[in-house]
This record gives sequence, C-alpha cells and structure tokens, in this order.
Amino acid sequence: MIYIKNKWEIEMIRRASEIVSEVLVILQTEAVEGISTWDMDKLAEEYARKMGAKPAFKGYRNFPGSVCFAINNEIVHGIPSKRRVLKGGDIVSMDFGAFIDGYYSDSAVTVPIGEVSPYARKLLRITRESLYKGIEQARPSNRLLDISKAIQIHVEGEGFSVVTAFVGHGIGKNLHEEPQVPNYVPENGNWGKGVRLKAGMVLAIEPMVNIGKPDVEIRDDGWTAVTRDGTLSAHFEHTVAIGEDGPIILTEMQN
Ligand code: MG
Ligand code: MG
Repeated sequence: MIYIKNKWEIEMIRRASEIVSEVLVILQTEAVEGISTWDMDKLAEEYARKMGAKPAFKGYRNFPGSVCFAINNEIVHGIPSKRRVLKGGDIVSMDFGAFIDGYYSDSAVTVPIGEVSPYARKLLRITRESLYKGIEQARPSNRLLDISKAIQIHVEGEGFSVVTAFVGHGIGKNLHEEPQVPNYVPENGNWGKGVRLKAGMVLAIEPMVNIGKPDVEIRDDGWTAVTRDGTLSAHFEHTVAIGEDGPIILTEMQN
C-alpha cells in the first residue's frame, strides 16, 4: 500500500533530506583526483552522525558502506574501498540516504572528476535533465507512469538507454516503500498507466542512464551493478513530495 504523508511527516522527511543534501555537497567538494571512495564514505558517515542521523544504507541487507559509489561503467551500489581512488576523467555517482527520528531520505548525484569526455558530459547533462523532466510530472491527478514516460522519452531521444533493472521508490518511514517508480514504461504486466498520484505521496525518483545498452551485470562482490557492454552510466536522484500544487523537491541542494 502507498502511505500518504501528512504535513508533519513531510517536514520530518525534509529534515532527513537536509542532512542528505549537506552530505552530497560535502562529497561533491571532496570528489577530486586522488581521494578514495573509502575516505569519502567516512566523511559522509561522520557528518550524518554528527547531525544526529544514521546513514540509511549502512547495514541495509549487509551493505558495508554509508555511500553507494559508482564509477564510470558502474551503474549503482558500488562498495566504498581504500583501493578505489578517483582519477581525472572519471565520472562518479554518489548515492546517500539518511534516517533521523523515524524518517528516511535518499538522493544521488553524478559528478565529473577533472576533465571528462564530451560524451560523459552529455550523459551527465541528459541524466540530470531526465530527473527534472520526471519530477515535473509528479503532481496530483497525473499518473505514476507519466513520470516514467517523461524520463524515458528524454533519455531515448538523445540516443541513450534507461536502466530497467532498478527503479525508484516511495520513501518515508521505510527506505523503500510502494510504489515502485520505473524510469521507463513497462510493456506488459499490470501497470496500466500506473497509480494516480496524490498530494502527500513522497517518491525517490532516480533515473539510471547508460550510453550503450541497458543491460546490467552484478560483480562478484554481490553488490556493484555495471553495464554489460562496459559503457558509461550516470545516476541522479531526488526525494520529492507531491504537493497540492505540484512537486516539492526535498533534497534540493543550496549550492
Ligand atoms: Mg539513492
Ligand atoms: Mg533510492
């Protein structure tokens, strides 16, 4: 079932979202050539705990880190490691969730390290734009798949592909709640146009976009999802409340 949040609950998710946004600002500042994802993970965890929050992913199904990193052909869910050191020309996705006073928030950005290829720059731009195209549809009276469709049309219109193996999600008292929020329109099954969107729904909308084919493989570590064809992948995510007048982005950064 889809939980409808009241104003107070949305303020609680906003509070968690502020911490998530602040952590992502710190991570973007620290993401330069030579730093390991391990060190960035520690900075994120320390800041969240200092603010009284718990890193939401740490220990989730035994995930060992606080941040999910995904470098270049990695799509999502990479494990922080002392051996993963950022290099110029990389693109790195950083996905962070926080839990405080009973509520979760979840957001991700992908950033370039130094100079990256024009293709990589375009991938980042289109993926970010597709997130905002999806968010724009997150309003009462629209259907869930209006979000999905807007993302898919923008991505495929640029010749890139949407990852279908992972989807966005409702969020609130749980990190992952109904409904699932696909970044594409499922061709079969019982989706129809998706549920009707209502004020008080809170969604984590998170397109994952590949330059090449959408196919995914999971590495032997059991977590890291990579593109099967080895092409670059990007990921952006916001936690968004549906307000009476339209979307309210709770994880928007003040930078
Ligand atoms: Mg996330
Ligand atoms: Mg998420």
